[in-house]
Amino acid sequence: MSDMSPHHGRGTLAVHAGVEPDPTTGAIMTPVYLTSTYVQDGVGNHKGFEYSRTHNPTRSALEAAFAALEHGSHGLAFASGLAAMDTVLKTLQPGDEVISTNDLYGGSYRLFTTVFAHYGITFHFVDLGDLEALKAKLNEHTRLIWVETPTNPMMQITDIAAVAEAVKGTEARVVVDNTFASPMLQNPLDLGADMVMHSVTKYLGGHSDVVMGCLMTSDDAWEEELRTLQNSCGAVPGPMDCFLVLRGLKTLHLRMQRHCENGEAIAHHLAQHPAVAKVHWPGFETHPGHQVAARQMHGFGGMVAFTLADDNLDTAKAVVAKTNLFTLAESLGGVESLIGHPATMTHASIPKEVREKTGVTDGLIRLSVGIEDVQDLIADLDQALAQAHG
Ligand SMILES: *Cc1c(COP(=O)(O)O)cnc(C)c1O
Repeated sequence: MSDMSPHHGRGTLAVHAGVEPDPTTGAIMTPVYLTSTYVQDGVGNHKGFEYSRTHNPTRSALEAAFAALEHGSHGLAFASGLAAMDTVLKTLQPGDEVISTNDLYGGSYRLFTTVFAHYGITFHFVDLGDLEALKAKLNEHTRLIWVETPTNPMMQITDIAAVAEAVKGTEARVVVDNTFASPMLQNPLDLGADMVMHSVTKYLGGHSDVVMGCLMTSDDAWEEELRTLQNSCGAVPGPMDCFLVLRGLKTLHLRMQRHCENGEAIAHHLAQHPAVAKVHWPGFETHPGHQVAARQMHGFGGMVAFTLADDNLDTAKAVVAKTNLFTLAESLGGVESLIGHPATMTHASIPKEVREKTGVTDGLIRLSVGIEDVQDLIADLDQALAQAHG
């Protein structure tokens, strides 16, 4: 599609990748091809498009953009992040094994343990920061290492290059859920991963108006297999959603820069606030993943979690109820700031003893820091913390 190459800067890729003027009209923006089928001049004589589950020009432009942004040869778009994951898992066979992180996104954990475990696939959850723990589960049946870094909500960091190195020479392929970092802050394929997955719903879409997922890889054979599954199973996004994401991508670099700046300012502000015991943000040198994050990321992102000094459920509920700019909601990665309480929201299905082991206590609050003026965001958090303790 587009002749953008990895030597272009990330911002240039964000604006231009995948997009070319419409050949029939010169329209600079990719048209929204709201069509299910394409007229053929004669039997089998078509212009590369037959049916929109298989191909749609708006989706093709977006898929080319996805590939370029992650420095991969191929991009595939799906109806949601979980639909993208579902497709990767369908390349496995009964008897195959997967190793993943013990601080996994809840929806991914549910897909692994309540859907694919019934198809004879075994999942192991280990601390992927501990390469010995990874190697202990690695065997001749291991086909996938499913990495998520940084994790939700504790912002744990996994060394992608070290994991890729540890499984070299085995049949295990490394997939990285890069949702929290976005391609602006981390490019796993450059670090030795075989595939990248994103919940496009978050930073890539960026405006909280689309649910979508994607996969990027440079493995031609794997791409072909996934492309066949995408067409056979059909979890494709519609052209209007593809257009919205193409539009969102154009400001991805600017948004991520602001998310990072605001996240950093808020992390530092909260760290010296008397009502806060601990701030979980990989930019702090005291964060256990700081060294690796500083090496493999181009910024520390806009996700910040903090534990209240009293670590109390009622105080936490009061804080999230009292913010005005930070809206109480699940999800993340949009332009507007969101606040959440993992213990009762995203992690409510995880037993208290289990979640508390990773730090998800009753007094933990998670922020998806948006791109508003940071002094307004800080003032909002300050007044909520003051009222909750009043
Ligand atoms: C949201 C999310 C997903 C799932 O994506 P959907 O688009 O909601 O299906 C997967 N991984 C991470 C890290 C997420 O935040």
